[in-house]
Amino acid sequence: MNNIPPFDLTRQYKLIGAEIEIATQQILNSGRYIGGNAVKNFEQQFADYIGTPECISCNSGTDALYLALRALNIGASDEVITTTFTFIATAETIAITGAKPVFADIDADTFNIDLDRIEAAITPRTKAIIPVHLFGQPVNMTKLMAIAKKHNLFVIEDVAQATGAEWEGEKLGSIGDIGCFSFYPTKNLGACGDGGAITTKDLTIAKKIRMMANHGMSDRYQYEITGVNSRLDALQAAILQIKLSRLDRWNQQRTEVADRYQNLLAPITEIKLPQAIFGGKSVWNQYTIRIKETGKQTETYRDKVRQELKQIGVNCMVYYPMPLHLQPVYRDLGYPKGQLPVSEQVAREVLSLPMFPEIYFEEQEQVAYSIKHSLVNA
Ligand SMILES: *Cc1c(COP(=O)(O)O)cnc(C)c1O
Repeated sequence: MNNIPPFDLTRQYKLIGAEIEIATQQILNSGRYIGGNAVKNFEQQFADYIGTPECISCNSGTDALYLALRALNIGASDEVITTTFTFIATAETIAITGAKPVFADIDADTFNIDLDRIEAAITPRTKAIIPVHLFGQPVNMTKLMAIAKKHNLFVIEDVAQATGAEWEGEKLGSIGDIGCFSFYPTKNLGACGDGGAITTKDLTIAKKIRMMANHGMSDRYQYEITGVNSRLDALQAAILQIKLSRLDRWNQQRTEVADRYQNLLAPITEIKLPQAIFGGKSVWNQYTIRIKETGKQTETYRDKVRQELKQIGVNCMVYYPMPLHLQPVYRDLGYPKGQLPVSEQVAREVLSLPMFPEIYFEEQEQVAYSIKHSLVNA
């Protein structure tokens, strides 16, 4: 039996390593390590790919979210609504601006924000909504944009896990006011280090973000607003250009991997498989199943199954073990346990299976077989 990792970046590097080494050698020889043509070209290619006139690259997905919020003048005494079931960066950046994160519960089938619960969370202080396209699966953007329009709210899409995914034929990150992307190595479009980008149709917002990401500088050594240092470096930009040209193929492979899991796992009734939302195209950053809790099983059943799987070489991840409204850092926001019950239940049940474009069919068979075995033994 092989040891199957949750993801393996070396298989992809073997395919494109030679090309990356030539491109990075060129950058190293050029002496231009920050900015320059590699960054400019990548921004243009990424904007074209997403379908927005503007793309501003930055240091990370976290910075992209922070810069987006700041560009919309969101800060102290404002509220921003987002999902409680996401990576910490989504809420953390809201808090860093001085605004208050307001958490909404999720839909158990899609793992995304429950659109029917957004309006109840809106107050006179609400300025924006951050939908997160979790695990690569799109939020229903038609419905979300209608809610935002009705209440005059900005929409910042957190596309960190869904680069290339679509809603009704449009790329995510081109529908809301601003799209925020992460190029963390395990994302669908991953750099060999940190990186991020912001997309927008609004030229004024784009100009402001570009200024803010470069210390708030308008002209050489003239500073208009308080900014930060957040740049994508030239080496990462060169690598990302090579990878962007393969992204659609890799996303297609992920879809095939998901389809195969769907077939292999369908007979196992003790687990719930992820559902693809109608109207959207998921890019399967994660393939996340739910180990159903039954009366007899305790809160730790999923963890026992995960432990069993690990022992026989199948390494799974738990994204995420605790929804954000219950995290110690947000205790002051005053969400009691049980307030957002769907996310709390889902957090106890989720298990993300090994998922990357280059996984072998035999490995997927081993995963399926091992799950059957582990459900009995746990
Ligand atoms: C990865 C991720 C981020 C942050 O991206 P970094 O590049 O790691 O800063 C934000 N939101 C979500 C949903 C993510 O998965």
